[in-house]
Amino acid sequence: MDFALTAEQKQIKDMVSEFVDEEVKPRAAEIDETDEFPADLVAEMGQLGLMGMPFPEEYGGAGLDYHSYAIGLEEISRGSGGLGTIVAAHTSLAGNMLYEFGNEDQKQTYLTPVNEGTDIGAFALSEPGAGSDVPAMETTAVKDGNEYVVDGGKLWISNGSVADTVVVFAKTDPDAGNKGISSFVVRPEEDDGFVVEGTEHKLGDKGCPTAELRFDDMRIPEDRLLGDEGDGFVQALKTLNGGRITIAARSIGIARAALDDAVKYAGEREQFDQPIGEFQAIKHKLADMDTKVQAAKLLMHKAADLKMRDETFIKEAAQAKLYASEISREVANEGIQIHGGYGYTKDFAAERYYRDAKLNEIYEGTSEILRNTIGDWLQK
Ligand SMILES: Cc1cc2nc3c(=O)[nH]c(=O)nc-3n(C[C@H](O)[C@H](O)[C@H](O)COP(=O)(O)OP(=O)(O)OC[C@H]3O[C@@H](n4cnc5c(N)ncnc54)[C@H](O)[C@@H]3O)c2cc1C
Repeated sequence: MDFALTAEQKQIKDMVSEFVDEEVKPRAAEIDETDEFPADLVAEMGQLGLMGMPFPEEYGGAGLDYHSYAIGLEEISRGSGGLGTIVAAHTSLAGNMLYEFGNEDQKQTYLTPVNEGTDIGAFALSEPGAGSDVPAMETTAVKDGNEYVVDGGKLWISNGSVADTVVVFAKTDPDAGNKGISSFVVRPEEDDGFVVEGTEHKLGDKGCPTAELRFDDMRIPEDRLLGDEGDGFVQALKTLNGGRITIAARSIGIARAALDDAVKYAGEREQFDQPIGEFQAIKHKLADMDTKVQAAKLLMHKAADLKMRDETFIKEAAQAKLYASEISREVANEGIQIHGGYGYTKDFAAERYYRDAKLNEIYEGTSEILRNTIGDWLQK
């Protein structure tokens, strides 16, 4: 057992950390305020190899291991929660679907520009009536000659309004339950009938547009099918398992930012003629915050380790995401508490971390669904 980072992992951490401190952190409040997609930062991240971290170089990726990818995403999320979602949805979800289930042509055509960051990816699974209950989806894809005709709509799609490539799930056999779901590559610029209905006004996660999409008799060529008809549900679950490791990374990054700011503030703010960090109550809060962050990291890297060994990691990914997301919210909450009244204002980033952290408990499997998964696994 070796808990030390390899030379490559350390190099990635240092490189991304420097980028985040110099380019992201100074912009984070503005991104939060304007809620605009930071296209220039994303383009720069593409040039740095941060938009396709875990995929092979032959498809434009950076060829990093999953630990390095998680470390990179943790650092990015330390700078901006919204940017963390942009990268996670683009890479762990859209990119992974193309890499794992695309054929060689699809990988060359769609995955390479996604990994290079010249195309933005999105993953469209959820619908108004189908969030946790994926098989309840109503979007259909009907074969017509050498095309599919897609009708329906999707909700909550991260990057959905700015994406060049959207992986869309639809029912090709509505009577076959979860075995009737298939996945397709959709290209908003090329495919008539792709409509962005609008974007959500959210509590946090600003800068990452969360879009409502509609498909009106949208015709796509048959060679956009990923894998075989009926594979979509299993593909989605496999992809979400890997994605959960990176939502743990986003959670840890936000928690670290909250902790860093709290430590700094506790050293600066004086009450009763001493820094508040000298009070045992505050010192203990900081100690608990860091202990939770360190424990979450171990769970995240354990799940990443199993994934890299090609072993089953469903329970471990669920545990990493469940624990990291909950401690992220708790740590951010204590960050506000340590800042006192100032923490409740926009003068400090503490309140942003809290708003950004909350989302981790909802997407890519709510905490309740993850507890179901872990409990089912224990009782198998
Ligand atoms: C900002 C944001 C970004 C998102 N990005 C994407 C994206 O890029 N792509 C995408 O496809 N989706 C995305 N989602 C959707 C997200 O994955 C869903 O919101 C999530 O799966 C929950 O679905 P729901 O909102 O319909 O809640 P519901 O499924 O209606 O759940 C409501 C409540 O009931 C609980 N519940 C439901 N079923 C059970 C059960 N069986 N046992 C116990 N409790 C249960 C839930 O845990 C929750 O507390 C995003 C959501 C948000 C908010």
